Amino acid sequence: MNGDRQLEWLRREGRIVIVGASLAGLRAAETLREEGFAGSLTVIGDEPYEPYDRPPLSKQVLLGKATSDRTTLPRRRDPDAKWRLGVAATGLDMAAGRVKLADGDEVPYDRLLIATGVRARPWPNEREAELDGVFVLRTCDDAARLHSRLKQGPRRVLVIGAGFTGSEIASACREQGIEVTVAERGAAPLVGALGGVVGDVAAQMQREQGVDLRCGVMVTSLEGDSTGRVRSAHLSDGAEVEADIVVVSLGATRNTEWLAGSGLGAGPRGIACDAGCRAFDIRGIVTDDIFVAGDVARSPHPLFGYQFLSLEHWGNAVSQAEIAAHNMVSAGSDRRPHMWVPAFWSSQFGVNIKSVGVPSLGEEILVAQGSLAERRFTGVYGYQGRVIGAVTFDQSRWLPFYQHLIETTAPFPLPFATVDRRSDGKRPIPADFPDPSVPTHGPTVTLSGYSPADRQLVFTPGR
Ligand SMILES: Cc1cc2nc3c(=O)[nH]c(=O)nc-3n(C[C@H](O)[C@H](O)[C@H](O)COP(=O)(O)OP(=O)(O)OC[C@H]3O[C@@H](n4cnc5c(N)ncnc54)[C@H](O)[C@@H]3O)c2cc1C
Repeated sequence: MNGDRQLEWLRREGRIVIVGASLAGLRAAETLREEGFAGSLTVIGDEPYEPYDRPPLSKQVLLGKATSDRTTLPRRRDPDAKWRLGVAATGLDMAAGRVKLADGDEVPYDRLLIATGVRARPWPNEREAELDGVFVLRTCDDAARLHSRLKQGPRRVLVIGAGFTGSEIASACREQGIEVTVAERGAAPLVGALGGVVGDVAAQMQREQGVDLRCGVMVTSLEGDSTGRVRSAHLSDGAEVEADIVVVSLGATRNTEWLAGSGLGAGPRGIACDAGCRAFDIRGIVTDDIFVAGDVARSPHPLFGYQFLSLEHWGNAVSQAEIAAHNMVSAGSDRRPHMWVPAFWSSQFGVNIKSVGVPSLGEEILVAQGSLAERRFTGVYGYQGRVIGAVTFDQSRWLPFYQHLIETTAPFPLPFATVDRRSDGKRPIPADFPDPSVPTHGPTVTLSGYSPADRQLVFTPGR
């Protein structure tokens, strides 16, 4: 069959399999049908639930404003798929085009999309992790268990790790009047994602809201009582914190183990793919029948010098799934690159935090609008003379403006005065990110390709 006829056949009666039945998997399934794919579609997911939304799990669900079984993702259309839920994919035979399942079944495919996301990194000491009262938060079951324990009125919650999820959990505790201690190895909350200048603001915010925030310390061990319930934690500075709930919020691990030995370029940093979402094999040769999308993907971004970005962002999962699905059923010349400008949001301690671009690449930050002291500001990040990212605290209306500057590789410092520039914003200051070799947070950006300081590129996002 020549290429055109093969594609026509695939679109009419081919077999597409999606592994991972969550945000990226669902959006890809819908897009495949919207693109006119009429063949058989199978979606495999190890969780026994229909695709559901995770961001509310650390926000509304912990506050009791939504139940964990009420975050099912809305569907744009019926994807007319065979759902194989509650069964994990355990292996991939690339030569035969088959996915192996935990129940012994094998599912053949003509095109495969891998959207297996990430899972919460557990507490490293298994015995301590099994103590009653020790939680992680990634799934709706995790959220249901944690919420039900919070409702019982714990004396104190200890959150280990002050990234976005850890900080949101601490916020939900304080909003319900629960005493909470946060232990963070870095110098401040959110420091890995937003740097020390913004991290200091986050630290003040937490302390003002009554969080017992301990930075620059590690939890070295957890201790249980005679009934196997957690009772305290020991910190690297010698302190002991008594807590009846411990939430381990130490980032995520990519779900790629099931691909070991398959010949696909999959590992702890995710699955590398090209800008068209096609996965690389272990030789670095791009496959043409295996695609990847969402948190598990690691893909080159033209705006950031083709560095490989691994993003744990809701919007990225949607956008990449749509591009991958389109490319799976399109001829080479009709394929599109995944050109989503990274964007993230969080709400905590009554503040709406949003970011665009890759702040963590920033060397310097300029407070372009508002003021740090008022906790209502826009911080713009510069990397070797260009705008690379922006963050807003309760000022998201400015984000599209700075997104445009990022897309057009505008110079940094900004060559214009901003509307309400106050003393904070007169000059850039070091953004104060931690040394990347210190494992405060896992790497989200892996360097390769030319320097993003090269400002020859004018970026047009695929909308
Ligand atoms: C508590 C929480 C709060 C968040 N808040 C925000 C926020 O405020 N803003 C934001 O931008 N993002 C937020 N995120 C991140 C966002 O939810 C993710 O980016 C998004 O869920 C990624 O979707 P995905 O489909 O790629 O991966 P996932 O949602 O991780 O889904 C992957 C699915 O694949 C399944 N799977 C894994 N291995 C296998 C296998 N071998 N076989 C079958 N199935 C498998 C998994 O169990 C899972 O169901 C939050 C995440 C969490 C957990």
